[in-house]
Amino acid sequence: MFGVVVCPRCHRAKGVDLSKKTTTCSCGFAIRIVPARIRLRVGTERELIEAVRRVSADLAGGLSEYERAVQPRRKTRIAEVHARVAATAMKAGDRAHRVRAAAIELSKELEVFSYQDLREVLVALGIQDIDASLDDLLRANVVYEPRQGFYRMITPAP
Ligand SMILES: [Zn+2]
Repeated sequence: MFGVVVCPRCHRAKGVDLSKKTTTCSCGFAIRIVPARIRLRVGTERELIEAVRRVSADLAGGLSEYERAVQPRRKTRIAEVHARVAATAMKAGDRAHRVRAAAIELSKELEVFSYQDLREVLVALGIQDIDASLDDLLRANVVYEPRQGFYRMITPAP
């Protein structure tokens, strides 16, 4: 069996062999192949190309293939995520709570967020010292750093 998964970080579709447990996206993110993440299943590798194309078209929301090729939407989508996260974090209370809410909301939206993502959100909240905020988050065990420059919320073990 083969299938199509969508990268939680860059939101691109990728064809995978479903007998494998993980696959690495072209953006570098290691995607765990879990049933909830499989958007489409096909029987043969030959059908996979078309399946990836279909899922990509769904993700692009009806844009033509040509438009998608010349105008990647990732930038717009990420900017929307930052705006949404900043709006939520703004209501979290004092500064420490806002920083924490920003990290948690970014994790919910992106699963893994970058230093740059955090910076965009904190600047929107009027917080300038990104490094100190990040140190607080790491020290308080709100987030950890799975890869240099990338952060992820620490969730309690199931
Ligand atoms: Zn990716």
